[in-house]
Amino acid sequence: MVDYEAIGLKVGIEVHQQLATSRKLFCECPCTLRSDEPDFTIIRRLRPTQSELGEVDPAAEFEFKKGRTIVYEAYKDTTCLVELDEEPPHQPDQEAIDIALTFAQMIGATPVDELYVLRKTVVDGSNPSGFQRSIIVALGGEIKLPSGKTIPIQTICVEEDAARKIKEEGMRIWYRVDRLGIPLIEVATAPVISSPKEAEEAALAIGRLLRATKRVRRGLGTVRQDVNISIRDGALIEVKGVQRLDLVSKVVEYEVRRQLELLKIRDELRGRGVKEEDIAEDFVDVTDVFAKTESRVIKSALKRGGVVLAVKLPGFAGLLGRELMHGVRLGTEMSDRARFWGRVGGIFHTDELPGYGITEEEVRKLREAVGAREEDAVVLVADARENAEDALRAVVERAIEALKGVPEETRAPQPDGTTRYMRPRPGASRMYPETDIRPIEITPEHLEEIRKQIPEFPEETVKRLVSTYGINEKLANQLLDSDYLELFEKICSETKVPPTFVAAALTETLKSLERDGVPVENLSEEQLWEVFKRIDEGMAAKEAFPDIATWLAKNPDKSVSQALEELGLGMLSPEEVEALVEEVVSRNTELIRERGERAFGALMGDLMREVRGRADAKLVAQMLRERIKKELEKSG
Ligand SMILES: [Zn+2]
Repeated sequence: MVDYEAIGLKVGIEVHQQLATSRKLFCECPCTLRSDEPDFTIIRRLRPTQSELGEVDPAAEFEFKKGRTIVYEAYKDTTCLVELDEEPPHQPDQEAIDIALTFAQMIGATPVDELYVLRKTVVDGSNPSGFQRSIIVALGGEIKLPSGKTIPIQTICVEEDAARKIKEEGMRIWYRVDRLGIPLIEVATAPVISSPKEAEEAALAIGRLLRATKRVRRGLGTVRQDVNISIRDGALIEVKGVQRLDLVSKVVEYEVRRQLELLKIRDELRGRGVKEEDIAEDFVDVTDVFAKTESRVIKSALKRGGVVLAVKLPGFAGLLGRELMHGVRLGTEMSDRARFWGRVGGIFHTDELPGYGITEEEVRKLREAVGAREEDAVVLVADARENAEDALRAVVERAIEALKGVPEETRAPQPDGTTRYMRPRPGASRMYPETDIRPIEITPEHLEEIRKQIPEFPEETVKRLVSTYGINEKLANQLLDSDYLELFEKICSETKVPPTFVAAALTETLKSLERDGVPVENLSEEQLWEVFKRIDEGMAAKEAFPDIATWLAKNPDKSVSQALEELGLGMLSPEEVEALVEEVVSRNTELIRERGERAFGALMGDLMREVRGRADAKLVAQMLRERIKKELEKSG
């Protein structure tokens, strides 16, 4: 167990949540994402943008020099000239501002007097203009955690979402600009969170308050958390874009472990007497060593005209294979750097060799070629010379950083909560004013209007759910954290399906299906509503809910009727009803003879049990009456 207090853990969270507005933040385009073929594409070269102080982002400049191009994909109905930076931004969307003002008042933040639009440099090409526009709406305020601890909020901003990355191939990146400009609220906490659990609680508390406004977008990709993590003697690491809430605590836990391991490696290197000047960019061409290699990676690189370059890392033997967190070693960190700066597939290092088709003999010759002693490690790369050199330069840089401890960087979360190198951390002072939009005054009258419409707080909602629908508090809380609170209330007010069943189905059942790999995110609210309506009308059994939901999730463009039919839960055809009627009547000829038409009641009960809601009761009754009449005529 790590004593988080003792190591001085400090975590700050930025929650980015898409707002459910009818238009984008700086133009009138709708906020709709599509997955079909884009209407048109625009190709641009990535250009390094300067901040006001004249600083150029090193990663952006590097990409520019390497000639990276970007393909922007767009649809005519969700993109105008504003997104493509061909036209100045329009006045900010008032609805987005008002949602942020509502949230600000809910947490006791102080709205600013005047809204200024600021430009924040972005360097990855996700915005054709080279910057993201952001508006500070309020400062301060606080949220309360279940433990009673309060977490101060620093800023509440409204900003435009970036274009979404579609793919990356060689020197090209594809972005789709339909997401660009969708309003986001950004809520940033002070860096006072002191444990992984607290980080998750803080993200959850902010998320609940945002959802309480009922004006945020739902579903995968609509919330992203940036988590800033540092420990004493470590470095400030920004993990960007954590989408799942339950991953926040894992991300913090793993990052702490990684930093602690890196500090141990630093101490060990110092203990071995390794000095910065010992680590040099002396790259040795070892192509000859691998002339007859069985390594598939090296063979294919050589076939494409590449070379094998190697560098010695003095005193690093055994440390590159050291695990920092699950599946990530110091060697992995170097490999990720090499991939980013050198566009290579990866590296090999002597801590993992012989292996990957590289023989002991080749390793011996490799060590000899670079003059490595037993305590040294050797890293090699096979690729085009320029790429291999860039890659090894990045490896050397990372090795020097290992000697200092933890390098500051931006990291990307993986599905298991571990993180990988994403890019260097951009420098400070990245904001400068947007000159195309005048400042906007926030009047006391407008704030008063907003204050009158403060929504129900999460804890009030839980209380109301418990008292109104008779569900327990656990289910009420689960509903609050689900995407289905409003749907739940609609179903319970418009059908007679028991609320506890509805709540459990929309939370526990769907969650357990998701754990089993069912793509429940495909289920639309309309479909779910339809399923409960069928249950209410007796046309589907409650017990069939998991089967129906699973089928619909796996067949997203099909209807509820098709699901019922496909699962054998659909309506019976008139022929099938007739056959059932025939069966019941022939089983009961005696009863019919005895009671005449009065036998109807008993037989109807039998029949409806067999039909189980799969046929209209009126039709069944009509068929049964006629058949009884016929039976009586026959015997009479
Ligand atoms: Zn637009």
